Amino acid sequence: MSFRSESSPNLSGIGMTSQRTRERLLGRLMDQGITSMEVLDVIRSTPRHIFLDEALSHRAYEDVALPIGFNQTISQPYIVARMTEIAYRSGPLNNVLEIGTGCGYQTSILARLAKRVASVERIKPLLDKARKNLRLLGLRNVSLKHDDGSLGWESMGPFDAIITTAAPQTIPHELLFQLNDGGRLIIPVGGEAQQQLQLITRQGEDFQREKLEEVRFVPLLVGRVQDR
Ligand code: SAH
Repeated sequence: MSFRSESSPNLSGIGMTSQRTRERLLGRLMDQGITSMEVLDVIRSTPRHIFLDEALSHRAYEDVALPIGFNQTISQPYIVARMTEIAYRSGPLNNVLEIGTGCGYQTSILARLAKRVASVERIKPLLDKARKNLRLLGLRNVSLKHDDGSLGWESMGPFDAIITTAAPQTIPHELLFQLNDGGRLIIPVGGEAQQQLQLITRQGEDFQREKLEEVRFVPLLVGRVQDR
């Protein structure tokens, strides 16, 4: 699926948001070890500039996290690709949960690789922004909720994969039990200074933990925020 970018200047972008700068980003992701063609294709055809304020949109295809307001960031493309690739390792996904919608970039990548995506965000204006962005991209298989995501979203589960895009100090146990048998939780764990990406795979009532790379995410905070 593509977004008919040729016919829409907003989606296709100009100058620094052009196709050439997007291809350069893809090269960088491959250099860093991203191999899934499905994931790379979806990143290539997802316009990241629409998730950013106009003043920053010229930097949309740099492989960096960028501010989106409310002290939060849009994730770095590499980490979005990496977490998605781990979730997608054994093929198409049925049901996925994301904790920390932000402006909806990771959500929109997941929405094109999974049948259904649920995503929870604690800051209401960001969730509203994400809803607008997903609508602009015509993605209709996403359910959004304004809540504290550390409790997951039980009624939408169980999930093949849960991706957490904010870091708790320790893994919230509620998330583990919302995984399908064989399901994967991909989560950064740690404090502001040092975090580690972890993959937890459910096997019946057992949970296998794999420690992956060092990462840097905003903290997973408790409670909801209406507006600020
Ligand atoms: N997925 C986003 C990343 C946004 S940054 C992207 O693709 O760019 C992480 C987000 O997690 C922030 O928007 C922050 O408000 C949110 N967050 C932090 N703690 C949370 C919690 N307990 N529940 C839900 N969202 C949370």
